[in-house]
Amino acid sequence: MPELENRIWMNMLIAGAAVAAITTVVIAWNSTQKAPLVKTRNRALELLYEFQHAAATPLHALRQIAEHMAIEMRAGLRRGGKSNLLMLPTYVENLPDGDEEGLFYALDLGGTNFRVLRCLLGGKDGRVLKQEFEEVSIPKALMLGTSAELFDFIAERLVDFVSREGEGFKTRNGMQQTVREMGLTFSFPVKQQSVKSGAIIQWSKGFDIADGVGADVVALLQSAINRQRGPKIEVAVLVNDTVGTLAGGRYWNEDVMVGMILGTGTNACYVEHDLPSHVQSGSGEMVHPSSLFYTRSITTQLPCVCVSGECVLAFLILSVVADCDRMQIINMEWGGFWSSHLPRTFADEQLDKESLNPGQAGYEKMIGGMYLGEIVRRVLLRMEKEASLFGGPVPSKLKEPFSLITPEIAKMHADESKNLRVVAKVLRDVFGVQKTDLAARRIVHDVCDIVIMRSARLAAAGIVGIFKKIGGEAFDSTDSRTLTNLHWDSQEPQQLDTKRIVVAVDGGLYEHCTQYRVYMRAAVNELLSEAGAKRLQIVLSKDGSGIGASILAARHSQHRGANKITCPMERPSEAAERPSVHLCGGNSSSCSQHTQSELPPRSTQFTQSEPTPRSTQFTQSEPQSNWLQATQHSVSYVYGLEYID
Ligand code: ADP
Ligand code: MG
Repeated sequence: MPELENRIWMNMLIAGAAVAAITTVVIAWNSTQKAPLVKTRNRALELLYEFQHAAATPLHALRQIAEHMAIEMRAGLRRGGKSNLLMLPTYVENLPDGDEEGLFYALDLGGTNFRVLRCLLGGKDGRVLKQEFEEVSIPKALMLGTSAELFDFIAERLVDFVSREGEGFKTRNGMQQTVREMGLTFSFPVKQQSVKSGAIIQWSKGFDIADGVGADVVALLQSAINRQRGPKIEVAVLVNDTVGTLAGGRYWNEDVMVGMILGTGTNACYVEHDLPSHVQSGSGEMVHPSSLFYTRSITTQLPCVCVSGECVLAFLILSVVADCDRMQIINMEWGGFWSSHLPRTFADEQLDKESLNPGQAGYEKMIGGMYLGEIVRRVLLRMEKEASLFGGPVPSKLKEPFSLITPEIAKMHADESKNLRVVAKVLRDVFGVQKTDLAARRIVHDVCDIVIMRSARLAAAGIVGIFKKIGGEAFDSTDSRTLTNLHWDSQEPQQLDTKRIVVAVDGGLYEHCTQYRVYMRAAVNELLSEAGAKRLQIVLSKDGSGIGASILAARHSQHRGANKITCPMERPSEAAERPSVHLCGGNSSSCSQHTQSELPPRSTQFTQSEPTPRSTQFTQSEPQSNWLQATQHSVSYVYGLEYID
């Protein structure tokens, strides 16, 4: 018995020892597994903080950037002034006032897609009666080929689109006799010689077409159109996309002074009142007797009147009128802006070095939609290499430049699920990373946030820089004090104090990324006083760059009568009690009546508090959500301008 007992004890001891040994091994194994995980995770966090610090946009830096922007604007306007802003005169002399009538086309060549659109304008009462557009993505090969290849491709699509003009768009003289007039929106720097000619200065946003530099972009397109032997199409006006956006915005709201693009790239233009004498310009609608500039001219010259009496008064009036003629839209080409206060990270340096235009477009490379995804990819790649963020080995897709596009980082950024499911999905779909832990996904989310927020805040600083240049001086308290002493127009000082400056923004980044808009507005509010922030309104002018170009084509039309529509407009005054307009087309070829009240009133189109719901604006079809995936769309809807903020 004792022997049996001993054996049992012995067996128990052996079993206990075995369990202890296994436990020790497991613990030891676990600790060898966890140690690097903790270590690598810490390293990933270190890299995150490092990146966050390098990309930070504190208020004091934004102030300096805004200040610097205003300084560079002034320098760029001076003859021979050195500036990293091109500050190009645009020769656009007539801004829309709503009177435009007829059928006009636009071709909007952006960085990712080009759009062709036709727009039926119904004058003040009808506004945009009907529009149709097609969007075509530009094949990568054409971005690096010859100008003839690119423009032949574009012209072919354009001619095809024009040939498919529906019944609702018929003009008086029919297709054969009538010239189709078009606004060309070109989103690259151009030195304009007139409102319908201009030499390409340089390419950007992934385009590099050597034989195009120095060539007249209108001539390139016009000869490509002529080679197609289709309907007669003439370029009536050449505009930068920012100018199209400004014009499209001005069509609805006369306080629009700035046009801005936040899409593949970024740029801005504005109405310059204080044009130096060496900048050629003409006269036109931009003369605005009640404008800010008008009163500023008076202010600066008033002392002459007091000293020398009547003849000087005549001189004053003449010079005011002459000065008023010298207002013009200036295309800033602000993508090339640079300031030592811009927060540059290792990813920006790498991206710039490996880009087609190293050392150029520094501001654009921190803001534009083409680059944001790529910056995030570079940060994640470093985290994966140095901290095994996704557990290694480095996925090949993560090593591929531009494999992560901005809409994807916007998707991850908008992920509000507890487990960051969308982040996991994007990482799986884009990089083939099958499994990620929550901590890694949080880091990815933070990187997206840093990059999106930096872009929005830098763009806000740019806007405030323009505000300082065009409004700041005249709006500040000392100027308005001087103005109150004037008897010229007792209303003016008050108007000046409260005059709004509206910034019309177009572009996929601003349009689709809601949080981007929130960050941008917040930064503008931080930078300005409460009163200043109230005066500066930022609005989305959806597709404004294209629509604006077609409206400008109408303003600069050489064949106005011929392009009038077949369906006569019935003016509200001619109608009975309820004012009404005739709308031609829609999906039917006949004219149908719509009450005036259905038209979005001009003043409410831009209000921030009352965004026009998309569903009411795009009643006939709703293809917006998949614009970027598809290569070609054709939509038809009434009142195509959508303004929300
Ligand atoms: P373009 O600049 O070529 O005229 P868009 O104004 O349509 O074209 O802008 C396209 C760009 O907008 C894309 O390159 C992309 O960077 C950005 N973008 C598109 N969709 C989104 C989205 N959902 N979220 C964030 N950015 C987007
Ligand atoms: Mg565009």
